[in-house]
Amino acid sequence: MKIALIGNQNSGKSTLFNLLTDSRQKVGNWPGVTIESKRGYIKNTDFELIDLPGVYSLSPYSNEEKISRAEILKNDLDCIINIVDATSIERSLYLTTQLLDLETNVIVVLNMSDMLAKKKLTIDENILEAKLGCPVIKVSALKNIGIDKLIDAISNLKNRSKLKIFDEFLEEKINDVSKFLDGSNKRFASIKALENDFETNHEDIINKYIKEIENKYNMDVVEVFASKRYDFVEEVRDSCVVRENINETVTDKIDKVLLNKYVGIPIFILIMFLVYFLSVGLVGSATVDFVEGLVEWVSGAMGNLLTNLGASDWSNSLVVDGMIAGVGAVLTFIPQLIILFILISLLETSGYMARISFLLDKFFKRFGLSGKSLIPFIVGTGCSVPGVMATRTIEDDNERKMTILLTPFIPCSAKLPVIALFSGFFFRDYAGIVSASVYFLSVITIILTAIILRKFVYKGNSTAYITELPEFRLPSIKYTLRDVYDRVISYIKKAGSIILLSSIFIWVLSSFSFNFTYGVDVEDSMLATIGKGISWLFYPMLGELSWGASVSAIQGIVAKEQVVSSMAIIAGLTDGGSSLIFASDGIFGFFTPASAYAFIVFNLFSAPCLGTIGAMKKEYGSGKHALKAILFQTGLAWILGVLVYWIGRLIWF
Ligand code: GDP
Ligand code: MG
Repeated sequence: MKIALIGNQNSGKSTLFNLLTDSRQKVGNWPGVTIESKRGYIKNTDFELIDLPGVYSLSPYSNEEKISRAEILKNDLDCIINIVDATSIERSLYLTTQLLDLETNVIVVLNMSDMLAKKKLTIDENILEAKLGCPVIKVSALKNIGIDKLIDAISNLKNRSKLKIFDEFLEEKINDVSKFLDGSNKRFASIKALENDFETNHEDIINKYIKEIENKYNMDVVEVFASKRYDFVEEVRDSCVVRENINETVTDKIDKVLLNKYVGIPIFILIMFLVYFLSVGLVGSATVDFVEGLVEWVSGAMGNLLTNLGASDWSNSLVVDGMIAGVGAVLTFIPQLIILFILISLLETSGYMARISFLLDKFFKRFGLSGKSLIPFIVGTGCSVPGVMATRTIEDDNERKMTILLTPFIPCSAKLPVIALFSGFFFRDYAGIVSASVYFLSVITIILTAIILRKFVYKGNSTAYITELPEFRLPSIKYTLRDVYDRVISYIKKAGSIILLSSIFIWVLSSFSFNFTYGVDVEDSMLATIGKGISWLFYPMLGELSWGASVSAIQGIVAKEQVVSSMAIIAGLTDGGSSLIFASDGIFGFFTPASAYAFIVFNLFSAPCLGTIGAMKKEYGSGKHALKAILFQTGLAWILGVLVYWIGRLIWF
């Protein structure tokens, strides 16, 4: 006898498989742990058991779904064990309805039943059994409860499922279509054919039926079937699940406000403004002078020390004007980053970010994105590399590719120095508001780009996103501190490695001319020569042919912090001094609020750093695709930079 285990991700399939077969498969808590199917025999029997990857439906959107569907449609299964998380059956029953369409032997296993009491839930499995028309067995795979009953049920299979959940009209159409089909799984195949998800030799007739259905319900045919399934699932849940303690929990009360149609998004905007106001605005202005003073003091002391030791001019300049200026410029933003990291971590661990993706799911769907693309964006506020990797959970291939391209648009922590440097100097008291506006500009750009890409490049619609909201939790201080500590340490490590090396490199380029003489005027250095060659590119967004700003912007590809380092080094070697980058008589004195904002915008949207490019290449599975995406990003960044500059000029003059 051959049996398949099928259910949602994290419903406990692998745990049950291990228990039944006495084997040791990886049990995990994130999607994608079981990618291929695993096989084994149930202890002391000749029942072969197959553990399939977790799925939410039998539509072939993701790889997991394709594998599971193929296995099921092979038709050599005697029985399907549908494992359902008892604590949230509505999430699983959608799949159950599809399995029951197969008209084969299905046993529904309510797993995690040990958790029911804790969640104050009771499920009447007799009612559920009656509603579904198949055996329902409560078990706990983890605590080894109810397993004997399950084995019993497998040994005494009853009749095959005959559940019909659609209304008369639809059932009639399904029945009509099934007359044209041969082979087995006729009901399933008919429904799939009507959903345009199954090839038949009768396209004309089926298309006629589809038209009829769409006209009757005034909905896309896929939506018709899906909504009927959801209606059924809801009805079943209401009839067999009892929730004790009907009074609202604190979470429910908070959610009423946070998830409200009208105030939910304004609250989100307010919170993000607050995050930037606190980190860049308040903390930035309070600490920046102190930290800059510290860096100045270190570079002064180091300069004196080197002079006293009799170090040569050039080595003194390398250490002070190159290494300390470059690395120091990046380190001055640590206080702001700490606050930003703490706030973001609090939003994540409290469960607020999950709510945001729930809230924005419907809104984003209109633009061909979904709540699933929001996860990469949220992860991307820390660093785009894990953000891009988080796109793996998106089923729809086109949505995934698009999200890979859009994730680097979110201001990551490395872009914060650029944003904070410019907004701090040019917008002073409004620095917090301006940097928050940058965040929202990136959200707007993501939406507009998504609309364009969906129309011309990555065509199609986004997939539905079913999610359950976690309870609100008081964030754990220990976890938050560790999280923030890890991020700060990795920022410092980056400053001590990539930024340090690049600073040395930039110092060399700006201290030597092309015929390798040291001590030339910076204007004659290699760096200036290169910069002058490309400065025309940036003229339309800066209003000035600035070699210094041009070479600095280009270095964003090494690491976004490097833009700030490079500017500090260049300013230090010219008259300004590295701690006063925008001195009015210095090389960057030409910046105005308009060009400052334009420069932020260019750096925000242009090609991401090499680390992210690597991740993009990996996720696209194609260097060429990644290259195209990067060229697109940079082109868009240029256009937006120029637009912002000219609009800004209109506003400020
Ligand atoms: P799969 O994705 O469906 O293969 O799920 P796993 O078997 O990897 O289990 C997901 C998580 O649920 C693991 O952390 C398991 O320890 C946990 N788990 C599985 N079964 C039970 C159960 O009956 N009760 C409880 N409380 N936890 C369970
Ligand atoms: Mg598994």
